[in-house]
Amino acid sequence: MSGPGPSVLHRVDELPAERLPAYLYDLAALRAHAARIRAALPERVELYYAAKANPEAPLLVALRDAVDGYEVSSGGELEHVAAAVPDAPLAFGGPGKTPAEIDAALKAGVHRWHVESEQELRRLAAAAEAADRDVDVLLRANLPVGSGALDSVALAMGGRPTPFGMDPERVADCLRLLAGPGFERLRLRGVHAHLASGLAAAEQLELAERIVAWSVDLAARHGFQLSEVNIGGGMAVDYADPSALFDWTAFGRGLAELLDRHPGLTLRIEPGRAVTAYCGYYATEVLDVKHSHGEDVAVVRGGTHHIRTPATRGHSQPFTVRPVDRWPHPWRRPEAGSGRVTVSGQLCTPKDVLAEQAEVASLRTGDRIVFAMAGAYAWNISHHEFLMHPRPGFHYLDA
Ligand SMILES: *Cc1c(COP(=O)(O)O)cnc(C)c1O
Repeated sequence: MSGPGPSVLHRVDELPAERLPAYLYDLAALRAHAARIRAALPERVELYYAAKANPEAPLLVALRDAVDGYEVSSGGELEHVAAAVPDAPLAFGGPGKTPAEIDAALKAGVHRWHVESEQELRRLAAAAEAADRDVDVLLRANLPVGSGALDSVALAMGGRPTPFGMDPERVADCLRLLAGPGFERLRLRGVHAHLASGLAAAEQLELAERIVAWSVDLAARHGFQLSEVNIGGGMAVDYADPSALFDWTAFGRGLAELLDRHPGLTLRIEPGRAVTAYCGYYATEVLDVKHSHGEDVAVVRGGTHHIRTPATRGHSQPFTVRPVDRWPHPWRRPEAGSGRVTVSGQLCTPKDVLAEQAEVASLRTGDRIVFAMAGAYAWNISHHEFLMHPRPGFHYLDA
């Protein structure tokens, strides 16, 4: 998992410069990684892949054997994932579901609904009634869980004002509605909570404990059968150290202990980034190397309009240099000589930085660069149209 494998490097070396930049996906590595995640989890933990991290069909298909289902957060994702992996169970979440999306999801027969508000619960109940369909719902809760060790981590989506899920009192309101007339088509299965991202295994376990404890207490107070808790995604990915993987083994062991204390309960997790980040690479060519006000700056084909990840997260994307010795021109080859280089793209904005002051032994114009960890929240979150540069190529390697 640390750095591109031989099949990726071979393809990068073979591609003509005009076919760069390119995304390369190592599907064999993805399959192996997902199988290891699955193997680390106890039986009563269902693994759903959050499609928004990377919804490309070959990846969804490669994951099919390892995952129990897919989490989708829009009508577009629903249609796309249902076509790519027919018959796979889908969980439909996300704020602001439109009436058309609700109807489409009813028709598609999604496995679980993550209800984000009372208004949505009412809409869904009416639509399910009209469509003559029963649906299984989890109420998405925005829990104040940020205390103790969890204080230090970014609770990006929970415990503060957000459009996601419901405050505990609003969850209680929904429970009262569900027990009354007009909601007979909705079967309450339990609770959903996706509260944070970037948590290490110990923090994820602490969060899971709190979500489950809160849910068990809620069920006891309101007298409903709690059969499932979805504890969300957000498993950490360390872009500064691609070899430092989330500790799925420790996480699985902790979840097994938690489940031992709650017989009859099924847990579900829905990671995205930690599943697909490692299998993707963005390969490109150095077009120019300049010495600018005391620092080396390399300009590559492409940029953050293809891989927005380093710009959104404010990190340096890890990369490998593939030296290209051929230099067909009669003039001197511009190269970085300081041992450190900032790698920028072709956009006319200072924000188009892929790696800042990265250590390199040598980097010359015409060399190739393979950025790692480009398999999640990379191409699909990027502003492709800005400046009208050509799109990258896409290669799915499966050897
Ligand atoms: C984005 C999202 C996920 C996946 O988060 P990762 O950080 O990619 O693991 C899971 N569940 C919900 C509800 C999300 O919005």
